Amino acid sequence: MTRYIIILASVLLACRPAEPKVEGEKPLVVCTTDILSDAVSKLLPGCDVKALMGPGIDPHLFKPGKRSLDLLQSADVIVGNGLYLEGRMLAMLDKLSRNKPVYLLEAYIPEGRLLHPAGDPNVADPHVWMDASLYMVALEGLHKDLALELASCSEALAAREYLQELDSLDKWIQRELEDLPSERRVLFSTHHAFAYFGAAYGFRLLAVQGISTAAEYGLKDIEMGIQGAIEMGAVSIFEESGTSKRPVQAVIAGCKSRGYTLKEGGMLYVDALGGPNSQAATYIEMMRYNVQTIKNALQ
Ligand SMILES: [Zn+2]
Repeated sequence: MTRYIIILASVLLACRPAEPKVEGEKPLVVCTTDILSDAVSKLLPGCDVKALMGPGIDPHLFKPGKRSLDLLQSADVIVGNGLYLEGRMLAMLDKLSRNKPVYLLEAYIPEGRLLHPAGDPNVADPHVWMDASLYMVALEGLHKDLALELASCSEALAAREYLQELDSLDKWIQRELEDLPSERRVLFSTHHAFAYFGAAYGFRLLAVQGISTAAEYGLKDIEMGIQGAIEMGAVSIFEESGTSKRPVQAVIAGCKSRGYTLKEGGMLYVDALGGPNSQAATYIEMMRYNVQTIKNALQ
């Protein structure tokens, strides 16, 4: 993991100015996830912003194929999340950074606000967007650098308005959840993606898998989930878009066999948006949908 941090530092240090484009053509910004591309398209409305990973794609497992490589190579600027979210792309991002600027959101997380699962300072949780306030702060820093890099397609007013919307979203989430009793605030999900959400909005957490879906879960993890649900008094367990429902069903069945009722809480969008026709077509919609789903299941 230490090596990973060194690699990412080199990604940022190796940044070079964006290549000049053909006159009249918009600069192309390629973001790794669609959650990021949604935000960057609002911060830089004059740029052509594309996502490498579409709806339902798991960034922990994503390995770019030829089409993705072509898109990355045609980008003027690349934006990633970092913190090992795009675990199988690190070497590629490092290589690309020798020829074009690669910005990682991780560089804009204020000191002291990164969360480290199991207290290991070398491993940081990548799911920073789950805290709308932290995401807003990180995006504000990222935007300052992108606006310098891509002055021709940056609009300060549009960026300010979007950051303001994220601030309103954060306040809305807090208001929406304020009446939820503390004993029902157990958020049980498939993988451990809600640490920032839990810290920001007051939830205790349970998950079958760790902070990455790359590690397989086994019977021991299901058993720990069952025990945790009973000990913590969890009301519901949530499935995640784009991932298997099997661990959720296994935990519910295990609880039932011990006389404990754990309900299906519904589906949450976690590491990717839901696509244009879903209830989670944008980051803000995704967060609002998740909060409503959690509230409905736990109240
Ligand atoms: Zn994740």
